[in-house]
Amino acid sequence: MSDGRHDAIARGWEAVVATARRTAAEGLVVGTSGNVSLRVGDTVLVTPSGVPYDRLRPEDLTGVDAEGNQTFGTLAPTSELPLHLAVYRNTDARAVVHTHAVHATAVSTLVAEVPPVHYAAAMLGGTVRVAPYARYGTPELAANMLAALRDRTGCLLANHGTVTYGTTLDQAYDRTAQLEWLCHVWLTASAVPGRTPALLSETQLGEVREALKGYGQHG
Ligand code: 13P
Ligand code: ZN
Repeated sequence: MSDGRHDAIARGWEAVVATARRTAAEGLVVGTSGNVSLRVGDTVLVTPSGVPYDRLRPEDLTGVDAEGNQTFGTLAPTSELPLHLAVYRNTDARAVVHTHAVHATAVSTLVAEVPPVHYAAAMLGGTVRVAPYARYGTPELAANMLAALRDRTGCLLANHGTVTYGTTLDQAYDRTAQLEWLCHVWLTASAVPGRTPALLSETQLGEVREALKGYGQHG
C-alpha cells in the first residue's frame, strides 16, 4: 500500500475513535453500545464489537471491504456490520453513526415516525421514520433500516436507537445529535397533560429543506 493511502487510513481510524468516544462522552451511548464507521477509498473502518472506546489504540485499527471481509486488524468488527455496509452500498455516505440515545430510543417505542415538531427534521431530509424492530446485527434490521432511510439521512430503529449518515463523521454525528434533540423536544411537549403539540406540515419542512441549502457561512 502507498504511504499516502496508509496515512489516510490511519487518520480515518483516529477520527472514528474520536467520534465513538464523543458518543459516550456526550451521553448518546452507555458502555460499548453503538458503533461508528468511515469509508476511506474501498475500505470501511469500523469500531470493533464490544470494546470500550477509551481503550481503542492506533494498533486496534479495524477495517473491512465492501463485502465485509476483514482487511485490517484482528479484533472482530461491530456486530452491526450489515447495517453499516447497507448504508454505503445504497447511499453516498462516507460516515455512519449508530447510537442508543435515550430520548430517540424512547420515541422509537411510541410512534412509526418522529412527529415533526421542529424544523430540525429537515436536517435529516424530512419527517424521520422508525424502522420496524428486528434483532441487533441481523440483515433484517439492515433491510428495515434501508427502507426507513429512503430520502432521509437518518432514522430510528424501533426499541433500539438511531442511525444517521453523512459525507463526514462530523456531519453524521451532528445529525444524530439533532435527531436526539428533536425526540427530546417532542417527548417534552407531548408530556404536558391535556395538550397536544402542533406539527409542521410536509410543505413547511420542504421550505426549510430549501432554505437550509443556503444556511451558514458562504465564501
Ligand atoms: P457492537 O459492540 O457489536 O458494535 O454492538 C453495539 C450495538 O449497538 C449493537 O446494536
Ligand atoms: Zn445498537
